[in-house]
Parts: sequence; structure tokens; C-alpha cells
Amino acid sequence: MMELERLTWSKPLDGFDAFQVTRGKVNQRNPYSEYNLCDYTGDDALRVLNARIELCVTLGIDMDHLIMPRQVHGTSIATIDQNYFNADYDKQEQILDGTDAIITAMTGVCIGINTADCVNIIMADPVTDIMAAAHAGWKGAAARIASKTVQAMTRMGAAPAHIMATMGASICQDCFEVGDEVVDAFWQKKHDIDSIMRRNATTGKAHIDLRHACALDIEAAGVPACNIYQMGTCTRCQPQRYFSARRLGINSGRTFTGIIRHT
Ligand SMILES: [Zn+2]
Repeated sequence: MMELERLTWSKPLDGFDAFQVTRGKVNQRNPYSEYNLCDYTGDDALRVLNARIELCVTLGIDMDHLIMPRQVHGTSIATIDQNYFNADYDKQEQILDGTDAIITAMTGVCIGINTADCVNIIMADPVTDIMAAAHAGWKGAAARIASKTVQAMTRMGAAPAHIMATMGASICQDCFEVGDEVVDAFWQKKHDIDSIMRRNATTGKAHIDLRHACALDIEAAGVPACNIYQMGTCTRCQPQRYFSARRLGINSGRTFTGIIRHT
């Protein structure tokens, strides 16, 4: 069985299973070891398939009920409903290609995203059972994928006041040194720069708190701050447990973060 690390919510949330897949047994010579579920960052296809099978066995679901997008640091959001399952394989691929967040209200379906330093956001509305998984690197965070996902959930019937949000292991502000073009991207989209950025006193370089930027964005969409939880753990500080692109390079595994409501 695969080791799943359950995510914490700011208050008890029955019925939802939110988790991230930890790396498992790490082989120092293989930046994809052990559990990489992402099939577009250079890993061996058979190893990826095996990891996905192991997750499905651990969750007790069929392979076609594990759904993850092909992410592009954009803000497109896909909804997984019966229409998705009625579609043919090509159409399903098309729905997931170029997508950075997924929403569903279906039980027995695990939706999730793959990250290595980027923020993994999981949300759920316990009243309507609508849930979401979103990937937010700096481009997506700056472009407000977090609040756009809340808005998409709301269009499906969720209420921002009921939505709970949690963020898993992702890069910390100390580790996330960025160029001024990144700061500019946040500034252009009217983020509160003073709250999310500080400069290193020695280097003068900007450091952005990506998780906090996402939390403020989720709040801006109407979700109460007390419903938002941030796991403090940093991927770059703990590359033995989580994949970190800054530590391992772009050609490395990704940490899968997902949510499912069991039937
Ligand atoms: Zn760190």
C-alpha cells in the first residue's frame, strides 16, 4: 500500500479524504523515485502507471476514477461529471489537457494535481459536496487560479462561506527567491505585495510567500479566513519526502495531491 499523508483542515470535515502522496523509498540517483504519478515530466511510463495503480488499489477505486490534468501554469478549470465519463478517451484527454484545476461533485472519483514546489490547493464544500484540486505556481497564483476555482465551485452551487480550503507541502518563502518579473506579475494582478513579498536583507532578492498569496486570493473570493489551512511544510526543505523542482531539477517527479469522497 502506498503511504498517503492526510491533509489537515481548519475544522473537522467528514466524508472527504484529502491527501498527498509522499515520495516513498528514495533512490538518490533517480529523481522520480519512488512514487511519481505525473506522466509528462520525463519519467518512465511504466513506472508512472505502476504508481497510479498502487494509488488506486490504496484508495479502492478503478483506474478511470483517478483523474489528474496535464498542467500548464494557466487558469483553465475542468469539471468532472457524468458527461466526462460518457465521453470517449480523446475527448477526456482534451478536457484534461492544459488544465490546472479540477472540480467535481462525484463520489468515488479522486481528483488531484501534481506539484513539485508549487502550491497544491484542495477545497471542499461540505453542504453541496463540491470539491476541487488546483495547482498554483507563481504564474497561476498571480493569475488568481485560487479565487477562480472558488468562483467555478460557486457557479456549480457551492457557497464561499461553506468552502473549506487546505494547502499541502509546497515551497516556503525563504526558499522561494524570485526575480522582479515575478513580483511584477503579482503587482499587475493587484495582489497585496506588502503581505506576500519581502526582500532578503543581504541579497536584496525578492521572496514570495506563494501559499499566503493563494490564501489571500481564496479569501478575496469570499471564503472565510478561518476556513483556510496552510500546512507549513516546505518541499524544497524536505526533498526526501516530497518532490522539489528547485532541488531536483525540472526533470523530476511530482507529488500528487488529491481528494475523494468515498461512496
Ligand atoms: Zn523551504
